Order: sequence, then C-alpha cells, then structure tokens
Amino acid sequence: MSSVGSSLNSSNRQTNERGIPTRCNCGKAVDRFTSNTVKNPGRLFHCCPMGSEKDKTHLFKWTDISVVEEIEDFRDLFDVLLVDNSEFHKSMTASETILKRHTSRVEEMEEAIARCEEKSMECIRELRVIKAVFVCCFVMVFMYLTFA
Ligand SMILES: [Zn+2]
Repeated sequence: MSSVGSSLNSSNRQTNERGIPTRCNCGKAVDRFTSNTVKNPGRLFHCCPMGSEKDKTHLFKWTDISVVEEIEDFRDLFDVLLVDNSEFHKSMTASETILKRHTSRVEEMEEAIARCEEKSMECIRELRVIKAVFVCCFVMVFMYLTFA
C-alpha cells in the first residue's frame, strides 16, 4: 500500500458498485491508498491507477464508505440467512412429525403381521389335531370292518 497525495474531488468519481471496488470502468484493477491531505489525513481510499486530479473519469472511493456498504450488505444477507434458517427449521419440524406418524404406522403394521402369524400357527396346530382325529377314526372303522 502506497501513500499518495490526494486532493481529489470524490463526488463525481464514485462508482455505482456497492462495497469495496475491485475494478475501474476503464478495466484497470483499483488499488488502495492513504490520503495525506490536510482535509482527510490518513484516510484510506480505493482509486484507479490511471486516475489523476485532471482526469476524473476513473474510479475513486473512500474505503470507510466501501466498508460501511460491505457491512450493510452483509447484515442484509445475514437477515435473509436467518429467515431462510427459520423456514428450514419449520420444514424440518414438519418432516419429523410426518416421519413419527409413519414410524407409528409401521409399528402398528408389524404388530398386525405378528398377530396374523400367531393365528396362522394356531390354525395349523388345529388342522394337525383334526387330521390325527380323522386318521384315528379311519383306523377304527377299518379295524371294525376287518375284524367284526
Ligand atoms: Zn480507471
């Protein structure tokens, strides 16, 4: 960073770009300098290296103004992020509620399946008993017919 004399009139050399400028309209990268004028001693500014006191078409901007703009823009961005975050949090809570509902449904279905399996096993046991009784009866009838 160099220190150069500056008695430039900044009002007609401002840029429309908010925040710290990086490039002049002429395409040149801007540099940061320190003012050593009586009016603004030690004040930082960004300025096009092609600019001069005579040629005021090139960029000139006080760094403190640029920094304030940067902070304002960052604050705006931060507010947007906070709002986005609260929206995200809301949708997360809604998703969690839906997920809990689905989980309880799945548990209910699992219980129903377990009950069905139990019933099926009971039916199979009953069928085996019926089959045994039937075989028993058949053998008795067969023996009666054979030996009677
Ligand atoms: Zn320039």
